[in-house]
Amino acid sequence: MDTLISNVTVVTMNEKMDVLFGAYIGIENGKIAYMEKTAPQEQPKTIIDGTGMVAMPGLINCHTHLATAVLRNFVDDGEKREALEQLLTRQDKLDNRAAKAAAQLAIAECLRFGITSVSDLYYFPEATAQAVAESGIKANLALSSYRFIDQNEDFDFETDEQCKELVRLVDTWHGYDDGRIKIDGGIYAEYTSNFRLWEGIASFAAEKGLGIQLHLSETKEEVESCEDRSGLTPAELLSCHKIFDLPVTAATCACLTENEQTMLGKYKATAVATPIASAKLGAPTTPITACVKAGMNVSLGTGGAFECGNLDMFEVMRYACLQARQEQGDSSALPAAAPLMMATVCGAKAQGRTDCGMLKEGLDADIILVDFSAPHLMPCHNVPAGLVFSAKGGDVAMTMVRGKILYQNGRFPTIDLNGVVSEIMEYAIPRLLGESKEEQ
Ligand SMILES: [Zn+2]
Repeated sequence: MDTLISNVTVVTMNEKMDVLFGAYIGIENGKIAYMEKTAPQEQPKTIIDGTGMVAMPGLINCHTHLATAVLRNFVDDGEKREALEQLLTRQDKLDNRAAKAAAQLAIAECLRFGITSVSDLYYFPEATAQAVAESGIKANLALSSYRFIDQNEDFDFETDEQCKELVRLVDTWHGYDDGRIKIDGGIYAEYTSNFRLWEGIASFAAEKGLGIQLHLSETKEEVESCEDRSGLTPAELLSCHKIFDLPVTAATCACLTENEQTMLGKYKATAVATPIASAKLGAPTTPITACVKAGMNVSLGTGGAFECGNLDMFEVMRYACLQARQEQGDSSALPAAAPLMMATVCGAKAQGRTDCGMLKEGLDADIILVDFSAPHLMPCHNVPAGLVFSAKGGDVAMTMVRGKILYQNGRFPTIDLNGVVSEIMEYAIPRLLGESKEEQ
Protein backbone atom coordinates (compact mmCIF):
# COMPACT_ATOMS: atom_id res chain seq x y z
CA MET A 1 0.00 0.00 0.00
CA ASP A 2 1.43 3.37 -1.08
CA THR A 3 -0.61 5.76 1.08
CA LEU A 4 -3.05 5.44 3.94
CA ILE A 5 -5.39 8.23 5.01
CA SER A 6 -6.14 7.40 8.63
CA ASN A 7 -8.95 8.24 11.06
CA VAL A 8 -10.93 10.27 8.54
CA THR A 9 -14.63 11.00 7.97
CA VAL A 10 -15.43 9.67 4.49
CA VAL A 11 -18.25 11.06 2.35
CA THR A 12 -18.27 8.25 -0.20
CA MET A 13 -20.91 9.64 -2.62
CA ASN A 14 -21.75 6.00 -3.34
CA GLU A 15 -25.28 4.84 -4.25
CA LYS A 16 -26.31 4.80 -0.57
CA MET A 17 -24.55 8.12 0.22
CA ASP A 18 -22.65 6.31 2.98
CA VAL A 19 -20.66 8.46 5.38
CA LEU A 20 -18.00 6.57 7.35
CA PHE A 21 -16.55 7.96 10.58
CA GLY A 22 -13.02 7.25 11.82
CA ALA A 23 -12.30 5.34 8.61
CA TYR A 24 -9.17 4.39 6.64
CA ILE A 25 -8.55 4.83 2.93
CA GLY A 26 -5.67 2.87 1.42
CA ILE A 27 -4.24 3.82 -1.97
CA GLU A 28 -2.17 1.63 -4.25
CA ASN A 29 -1.03 2.36 -7.81
CA GLY A 30 -3.27 5.43 -7.97
CA LYS A 31 -6.43 3.49 -7.04
CA ILE A 32 -8.46 3.18 -3.86
CA ALA A 33 -7.44 -0.25 -2.63
CA TYR A 34 -8.92 -0.22 0.87
CA MET A 35 -11.77 1.61 2.60
CA GLU A 36 -12.85 0.36 6.00
CA LYS A 37 -13.59 1.49 9.53
CA THR A 38 -10.61 -0.50 10.81
CA ALA A 39 -6.95 0.01 10.00
CA PRO A 40 -5.46 -2.37 7.42
CA GLN A 41 -2.94 -5.04 8.47
CA GLU A 42 -0.55 -3.95 5.75
CA GLN A 43 1.93 -1.18 6.54
CA PRO A 44 1.63 1.73 4.10
CA LYS A 45 4.66 3.61 2.78
CA THR A 46 3.09 6.96 3.76
CA ILE A 47 0.40 7.88 6.28
CA ILE A 48 -1.73 11.03 6.03
CA ASP A 49 -3.39 11.79 9.35
CA GLY A 50 -7.04 12.49 8.55
CA THR A 51 -8.05 13.48 12.09
CA GLY A 52 -10.56 16.36 11.93
CA MET A 53 -10.75 16.02 8.14
CA VAL A 54 -13.51 15.02 5.75
CA ALA A 55 -12.46 12.99 2.71
CA MET A 56 -14.64 13.18 -0.37
CA PRO A 57 -14.29 12.61 -4.13
CA GLY A 58 -12.54 15.47 -5.92
CA LEU A 59 -14.95 18.04 -7.35
CA ILE A 60 -15.60 18.09 -11.08
CA ASN A 61 -15.95 21.52 -12.69
CA CYS A 62 -17.98 20.81 -15.84
CA HIS A 63 -17.86 24.25 -17.45
CA THR A 64 -14.96 26.64 -17.41
CA HIS A 65 -12.66 28.65 -19.64
CA LEU A 66 -9.36 28.18 -17.78
CA ALA A 67 -7.18 30.68 -19.63
CA THR A 68 -9.60 33.54 -18.93
CA ALA A 69 -8.12 33.64 -15.42
CA VAL A 70 -5.68 36.20 -16.85
CA LEU A 71 -8.63 38.61 -17.27
CA ARG A 72 -10.13 38.00 -13.83
CA ASN A 73 -12.26 41.04 -12.89
CA PHE A 74 -10.88 43.03 -15.83
CA VAL A 75 -14.43 44.17 -16.42
CA ASP A 76 -17.10 43.97 -13.77
CA ASP A 77 -20.10 43.84 -16.05
CA GLY A 78 -19.50 41.44 -18.92
CA GLU A 79 -22.91 41.99 -20.48
CA LYS A 80 -22.51 45.68 -21.16
CA ARG A 81 -21.50 46.01 -24.78
CA GLU A 82 -18.55 48.32 -24.14
CA ALA A 83 -17.17 46.15 -21.39
CA LEU A 84 -17.61 43.03 -23.47
CA GLU A 85 -15.83 44.61 -26.43
CA GLN A 86 -12.93 45.61 -24.20
CA LEU A 87 -12.75 42.08 -22.91
CA LEU A 88 -12.80 40.53 -26.37
CA THR A 89 -10.09 42.89 -27.60
CA ARG A 90 -7.84 41.73 -24.76
CA GLN A 91 -8.74 38.10 -25.25
CA ASP A 92 -7.75 38.37 -28.94
CA LYS A 93 -4.22 39.19 -27.88
CA LEU A 94 -3.69 35.93 -26.06
CA ASP A 95 -1.16 33.58 -27.61
CA ASN A 96 -0.06 30.05 -26.71
CA ARG A 97 2.52 31.21 -24.18
CA ALA A 98 0.15 33.57 -22.36
CA ALA A 99 -2.70 31.03 -22.52
CA LYS A 100 -0.53 28.32 -21.01
CA ALA A 101 0.50 30.51 -18.06
CA ALA A 102 -3.12 31.57 -17.54
CA ALA A 103 -4.30 27.94 -17.67
CA GLN A 104 -1.60 26.95 -15.17
CA LEU A 105 -2.79 29.67 -12.79
CA ALA A 106 -6.40 28.51 -13.14
CA ILE A 107 -5.40 24.87 -12.63
CA ALA A 108 -3.54 25.82 -9.44
CA GLU A 109 -6.72 27.57 -8.29
CA CYS A 110 -8.79 24.46 -9.13
CA LEU A 111 -6.45 22.21 -7.16
CA ARG A 112 -6.41 24.68 -4.25
CA PHE A 113 -10.22 24.43 -4.14
CA GLY A 114 -10.43 20.64 -4.40
CA ILE A 115 -11.22 20.31 -8.12
CA THR A 116 -9.69 17.18 -9.62
CA SER A 117 -11.22 17.35 -13.11
CA VAL A 118 -12.37 20.17 -15.40
CA SER A 119 -14.24 20.56 -18.68
CA ASP A 120 -12.73 23.44 -20.60
CA LEU A 121 -14.33 25.09 -23.65
CA TYR A 122 -11.94 27.69 -24.99
CA TYR A 123 -9.19 28.56 -27.44
CA PHE A 124 -5.48 27.59 -27.35
CA PRO A 125 -6.37 24.00 -26.41
CA GLU A 126 -2.84 22.82 -27.20
CA ALA A 127 -1.38 25.20 -24.58
CA THR A 128 -4.11 24.22 -22.11
CA ALA A 129 -3.45 20.52 -22.76
CA GLN A 130 0.23 21.02 -21.97
CA ALA A 131 -0.65 22.81 -18.72
CA VAL A 132 -3.09 20.00 -17.81
CA ALA A 133 -0.58 17.28 -18.70
CA GLU A 134 2.16 18.81 -16.51
CA SER A 135 -0.14 19.53 -13.56
CA GLY A 136 -1.66 16.06 -13.08
CA ILE A 137 -5.30 17.27 -13.07
CA LYS A 138 -7.90 15.49 -15.25
CA ALA A 139 -9.57 17.42 -18.07
CA ASN A 140 -11.98 17.22 -20.98
CA LEU A 141 -10.74 19.88 -23.38
CA ALA A 142 -12.74 21.34 -26.24
CA LEU A 143 -11.80 23.92 -28.84
CA SER A 144 -14.63 26.44 -28.82
CA SER A 145 -15.34 26.42 -32.59
CA TYR A 146 -17.28 29.29 -34.11
CA ARG A 147 -17.88 30.11 -37.76
CA PHE A 148 -20.81 30.83 -40.02
CA ILE A 149 -20.23 29.00 -43.25
CA ASP A 150 -22.01 30.57 -46.15
CA GLN A 151 -23.97 28.33 -48.56
CA ASN A 152 -21.68 29.38 -51.40
CA GLU A 153 -18.51 28.90 -49.42
CA ASP A 154 -16.37 25.84 -49.91
CA PHE A 155 -16.30 23.99 -46.64
CA ASP A 156 -14.22 20.91 -46.21
CA PHE A 157 -13.71 19.44 -42.72
CA GLU A 158 -10.26 18.25 -43.83
CA THR A 159 -8.99 21.74 -44.71
CA ASP A 160 -10.94 24.02 -42.37
CA GLU A 161 -8.50 25.56 -39.86
CA GLN A 162 -10.62 25.00 -36.71
CA CYS A 163 -11.49 21.45 -37.77
CA LYS A 164 -7.85 20.70 -38.53
CA GLU A 165 -6.94 21.90 -35.05
CA LEU A 166 -9.55 19.56 -33.55
CA VAL A 167 -8.09 16.62 -35.52
CA ARG A 168 -4.55 17.50 -34.37
CA LEU A 169 -5.71 17.74 -30.77
CA VAL A 170 -7.41 14.37 -30.88
CA ASP A 171 -4.32 12.77 -32.46
CA THR A 172 -2.01 14.25 -29.83
CA TRP A 173 -4.04 14.35 -26.64
CA HIS A 174 -7.22 12.23 -26.69
CA GLY A 175 -6.69 9.46 -24.16
CA TYR A 176 -3.36 10.90 -22.94
CA ASP A 177 -2.04 9.31 -19.72
CA ASP A 178 -4.56 6.51 -19.67
CA GLY A 179 -7.51 8.84 -20.32
CA ARG A 180 -6.52 11.61 -17.90
CA ILE A 181 -6.96 14.03 -20.81
CA LYS A 182 -9.92 13.63 -23.14
CA ILE A 183 -10.72 15.83 -26.11
CA ASP A 184 -14.32 16.82 -26.80
CA GLY A 185 -15.73 18.49 -29.89
CA GLY A 186 -16.60 22.11 -29.07
CA ILE A 187 -19.15 24.55 -30.45
CA TYR A 188 -19.19 27.97 -28.81
CA ALA A 189 -22.96 28.28 -29.33
CA GLU A 190 -25.75 28.03 -31.88
CA TYR A 191 -25.58 31.77 -32.57
CA THR A 192 -21.89 31.85 -33.52
CA SER A 193 -21.91 29.05 -36.09
CA ASN A 194 -24.16 27.08 -38.39
CA PHE A 195 -25.05 23.59 -39.50
CA ARG A 196 -22.17 22.86 -41.83
CA LEU A 197 -19.67 23.29 -39.02
CA TRP A 198 -21.91 21.37 -36.57
CA GLU A 199 -22.32 18.42 -38.90
CA GLY A 200 -18.59 18.32 -39.62
CA ILE A 201 -17.74 18.27 -35.92
CA ALA A 202 -20.56 15.85 -35.07
CA SER A 203 -19.56 13.23 -37.62
CA PHE A 204 -15.89 13.46 -36.60
CA ALA A 205 -16.87 13.21 -32.90
CA ALA A 206 -19.06 10.17 -33.63
CA GLU A 207 -16.20 8.49 -35.51
CA LYS A 208 -13.70 9.14 -32.69
CA GLY A 209 -16.06 8.58 -29.75
CA LEU A 210 -15.84 12.17 -28.47
CA GLY A 211 -18.31 14.15 -26.41
CA ILE A 212 -19.44 17.68 -27.31
CA GLN A 213 -19.24 20.84 -25.18
CA LEU A 214 -21.25 23.94 -25.97
CA HIS A 215 -23.26 26.85 -24.57
CA LEU A 216 -27.00 26.35 -25.03
CA SER A 217 -30.05 28.54 -24.42
CA GLU A 218 -28.37 30.75 -21.85
CA THR A 219 -30.60 33.78 -22.43
CA LYS A 220 -34.07 34.57 -23.78
CA GLU A 221 -32.50 36.80 -26.47
CA GLU A 222 -30.45 33.86 -27.72
CA VAL A 223 -33.56 31.69 -28.02
CA GLU A 224 -35.64 34.42 -29.69
CA SER A 225 -32.93 35.22 -32.23
CA CYS A 226 -32.67 31.53 -33.18
CA GLU A 227 -36.47 31.30 -33.52
CA ASP A 228 -36.48 34.41 -35.73
CA ARG A 229 -33.81 32.98 -38.01
CA SER A 230 -34.88 29.35 -38.18
CA GLY A 231 -38.34 28.95 -36.68
CA LEU A 232 -36.81 26.55 -34.18
CA THR A 233 -35.30 26.89 -30.71
CA PRO A 234 -31.54 26.31 -30.40
CA ALA A 235 -31.91 22.77 -29.00
CA GLU A 236 -34.46 21.83 -31.70
CA LEU A 237 -32.20 23.21 -34.42
CA LEU A 238 -29.07 21.49 -33.11
CA SER A 239 -30.94 18.21 -32.72
CA CYS A 240 -31.84 18.32 -36.45
CA HIS A 241 -28.10 18.15 -37.08
CA LYS A 242 -27.50 15.11 -34.85
CA ILE A 243 -25.61 17.01 -32.14
CA PHE A 244 -27.50 15.29 -29.31
CA ASP A 245 -26.82 11.83 -30.70
CA LEU A 246 -23.44 12.44 -29.04
CA PRO A 247 -22.81 12.84 -25.30
CA VAL A 248 -23.42 16.58 -24.94
CA THR A 249 -22.38 18.81 -22.04
CA ALA A 250 -24.32 22.06 -22.39
CA ALA A 251 -23.98 25.23 -20.33
CA THR A 252 -26.37 26.53 -19.01
CA CYS A 253 -29.69 25.35 -20.51
CA ALA A 254 -31.38 28.11 -18.48
CA CYS A 255 -34.02 28.93 -21.12
CA LEU A 256 -35.01 25.48 -22.44
CA THR A 257 -38.73 24.90 -22.93
CA GLU A 258 -40.33 21.97 -21.14
CA ASN A 259 -40.40 20.04 -24.43
CA GLU A 260 -36.71 20.66 -24.95
CA GLN A 261 -35.94 19.49 -21.42
CA THR A 262 -37.86 16.28 -22.15
CA MET A 263 -36.10 15.82 -25.49
CA LEU A 264 -32.65 16.37 -23.95
CA GLY A 265 -33.64 14.05 -21.11
CA LYS A 266 -34.26 11.29 -23.65
CA TYR A 267 -30.86 11.99 -25.18
CA LYS A 268 -29.33 11.84 -21.66
CA ALA A 269 -27.64 15.17 -22.29
CA THR A 270 -25.95 17.06 -19.47
CA ALA A 271 -26.99 20.55 -18.41
CA VAL A 272 -24.24 22.39 -16.56
CA ALA A 273 -25.56 24.88 -14.06
CA THR A 274 -23.17 27.79 -13.48
CA PRO A 275 -25.27 29.67 -10.92
CA ILE A 276 -22.61 32.17 -9.86
CA ALA A 277 -21.46 33.13 -13.36
CA SER A 278 -25.11 33.43 -14.45
CA ALA A 279 -26.04 35.55 -11.45
CA LYS A 280 -23.03 37.82 -11.92
CA LEU A 281 -24.09 38.42 -15.53
CA GLY A 282 -27.70 39.00 -14.50
CA ALA A 283 -28.63 36.01 -16.68
CA PRO A 284 -31.27 33.37 -15.92
CA THR A 285 -30.10 30.23 -14.14
CA THR A 286 -30.52 26.56 -14.91
CA PRO A 287 -33.82 25.15 -13.57
CA ILE A 288 -32.01 22.26 -11.91
CA THR A 289 -35.03 20.41 -10.53
CA ALA A 290 -36.96 20.57 -13.83
CA CYS A 291 -33.95 19.35 -15.84
CA VAL A 292 -33.40 16.45 -13.44
CA LYS A 293 -37.11 15.52 -13.53
CA ALA A 294 -36.96 15.54 -17.34
CA GLY A 295 -34.19 12.93 -17.17
CA MET A 296 -31.22 15.16 -17.93
CA ASN A 297 -27.90 14.72 -16.17
CA VAL A 298 -27.21 17.97 -14.29
CA SER A 299 -23.70 18.90 -13.24
CA LEU A 300 -22.08 22.10 -11.97
CA GLY A 301 -19.49 24.52 -13.27
CA THR A 302 -17.93 27.81 -12.38
CA GLY A 303 -17.73 29.39 -15.82
CA GLY A 304 -14.48 31.23 -16.56
CA ALA A 305 -12.76 33.21 -13.81
CA PHE A 306 -13.27 36.39 -15.86
CA GLU A 307 -17.04 36.01 -15.64
CA CYS A 308 -17.50 34.60 -12.14
CA GLY A 309 -14.53 35.88 -10.14
CA ASN A 310 -13.12 32.58 -8.96
CA LEU A 311 -13.23 28.82 -9.51
CA ASP A 312 -14.54 27.84 -6.09
CA MET A 313 -16.94 24.92 -6.60
CA PHE A 314 -17.94 25.01 -2.92
CA GLU A 315 -19.45 28.44 -3.57
CA VAL A 316 -21.13 27.04 -6.69
CA MET A 317 -22.65 24.10 -4.75
CA ARG A 318 -23.94 26.40 -2.04
CA TYR A 319 -25.32 28.96 -4.46
CA ALA A 320 -27.04 26.30 -6.60
CA CYS A 321 -28.89 25.12 -3.51
CA LEU A 322 -29.78 28.57 -2.21
CA GLN A 323 -31.03 29.75 -5.57
CA ALA A 324 -33.22 26.68 -6.21
CA ARG A 325 -34.78 26.98 -2.75
CA GLN A 326 -35.41 30.71 -3.12
CA GLU A 327 -36.87 30.41 -6.63
CA GLN A 328 -39.18 27.59 -5.60
CA GLY A 329 -40.00 29.11 -2.21
CA ASP A 330 -39.25 25.72 -0.70
CA SER A 331 -36.38 24.92 1.67
CA SER A 332 -36.56 21.27 0.65
CA ALA A 333 -36.26 22.05 -3.09
CA LEU A 334 -32.64 20.94 -3.32
CA PRO A 335 -31.23 18.95 -0.38
CA ALA A 336 -27.50 19.33 0.40
CA ALA A 337 -26.78 15.93 -1.11
CA ALA A 338 -27.98 17.16 -4.53
CA PRO A 339 -25.22 19.69 -5.33
CA LEU A 340 -22.67 17.23 -3.91
CA MET A 341 -23.96 14.62 -6.39
CA MET A 342 -23.90 17.14 -9.23
CA ALA A 343 -20.32 18.17 -8.43
CA THR A 344 -19.03 14.58 -8.25
CA VAL A 345 -21.07 11.65 -9.63
CA CYS A 346 -22.94 13.65 -12.29
CA GLY A 347 -19.77 15.52 -13.26
CA ALA A 348 -17.93 12.25 -13.88
CA LYS A 349 -20.88 11.03 -15.95
CA ALA A 350 -20.85 14.24 -18.02
CA GLN A 351 -17.15 13.74 -18.74
CA GLY A 352 -17.68 10.09 -19.70
CA ARG A 353 -15.47 8.97 -16.82
CA THR A 354 -16.28 5.74 -15.00
CA ASP A 355 -13.12 5.78 -12.87
CA CYS A 356 -14.00 8.64 -10.52
CA GLY A 357 -16.86 10.62 -8.94
CA MET A 358 -17.16 8.40 -5.83
CA LEU A 359 -14.87 6.98 -3.18
CA LYS A 360 -15.01 3.24 -3.72
CA GLU A 361 -12.48 0.42 -3.89
CA GLY A 362 -11.16 0.03 -7.43
CA LEU A 363 -11.79 3.63 -8.51
CA ASP A 364 -9.08 6.25 -9.08
CA ALA A 365 -7.87 7.87 -5.86
CA ASP A 366 -9.17 11.35 -6.78
CA ILE A 367 -9.60 12.44 -3.16
CA ILE A 368 -9.76 15.74 -1.34
CA LEU A 369 -9.45 16.42 2.37
CA VAL A 370 -11.49 19.26 3.82
CA ASP A 371 -10.31 20.58 7.19
CA PHE A 372 -13.35 20.52 9.45
CA SER A 373 -11.43 21.81 12.49
CA ALA A 374 -12.02 25.48 11.60
CA PRO A 375 -14.55 27.41 13.76
CA HIS A 376 -17.05 27.83 10.91
CA LEU A 377 -17.21 24.05 10.45
CA MET A 378 -17.80 23.09 14.07
CA PRO A 379 -19.76 21.41 15.45
CA CYS A 380 -20.62 19.12 12.58
CA HIS A 381 -24.10 17.63 12.98
CA ASN A 382 -24.50 16.80 9.30
CA VAL A 383 -21.46 16.29 7.07
CA PRO A 384 -23.06 16.82 3.62
CA ALA A 385 -24.75 20.03 4.89
CA GLY A 386 -21.40 21.14 6.36
CA LEU A 387 -19.72 20.66 3.00
CA VAL A 388 -22.41 22.60 1.11
CA PHE A 389 -23.43 25.35 3.53
CA SER A 390 -20.35 25.95 5.68
CA ALA A 391 -17.20 24.88 3.81
CA LYS A 392 -15.29 27.01 1.31
CA GLY A 393 -12.65 26.18 -1.25
CA GLY A 394 -10.02 27.53 1.13
CA ASP A 395 -10.87 24.76 3.63
CA VAL A 396 -9.39 22.14 1.29
CA ALA A 397 -6.19 20.88 2.90
CA MET A 398 -5.18 18.33 0.27
CA THR A 399 -6.09 17.48 -3.33
CA MET A 400 -5.02 14.18 -4.84
CA VAL A 401 -5.53 12.83 -8.37
CA ARG A 402 -4.85 9.14 -9.00
CA GLY A 403 -3.11 8.91 -5.63
CA LYS A 404 -0.68 11.74 -6.38
CA ILE A 405 -0.83 14.82 -4.15
CA LEU A 406 -1.23 17.92 -6.35
CA TYR A 407 -2.02 20.38 -3.56
CA GLN A 408 -1.27 20.23 0.15
CA ASN A 409 -0.88 22.92 2.81
CA GLY A 410 -0.20 25.78 0.42
CA ARG A 411 2.12 23.81 -1.84
CA PHE A 412 1.65 22.71 -5.45
CA PRO A 413 4.19 19.93 -6.14
CA THR A 414 3.54 19.93 -9.91
CA ILE A 415 3.17 23.68 -10.54
CA ASP A 416 5.86 26.34 -10.11
CA LEU A 417 3.36 28.95 -8.98
CA ASN A 418 5.94 31.75 -8.60
CA GLY A 419 7.18 31.05 -12.12
CA VAL A 420 3.60 31.06 -13.45
CA VAL A 421 2.82 34.37 -11.72
CA SER A 422 5.95 36.03 -13.17
CA GLU A 423 5.08 34.71 -16.62
CA ILE A 424 1.63 36.27 -16.25
CA MET A 425 2.88 39.60 -14.88
CA GLU A 426 5.87 39.94 -17.18
CA TYR A 427 4.59 38.39 -20.40
CA ALA A 428 0.82 37.80 -20.52
CA ILE A 429 -0.43 41.05 -18.94
CA PRO A 430 1.82 43.39 -20.96
CA ARG A 431 0.81 41.48 -24.09
CA LEU A 432 -2.89 41.73 -23.36
CA LEU A 433 -2.75 45.34 -22.32
CA GLY A 434 -0.84 46.24 -25.45
CA GLU A 435 2.43 47.10 -23.81
CA SER A 436 4.45 44.13 -25.03
CA LYS A 437 7.89 44.80 -26.49
CA GLU A 438 6.80 43.56 -29.95
CA GLU A 439 4.15 46.24 -30.10
CA GLN A 440 6.30 49.15 -29.00
ZN1 LIG B 1 -19.07 29.60 -20.70
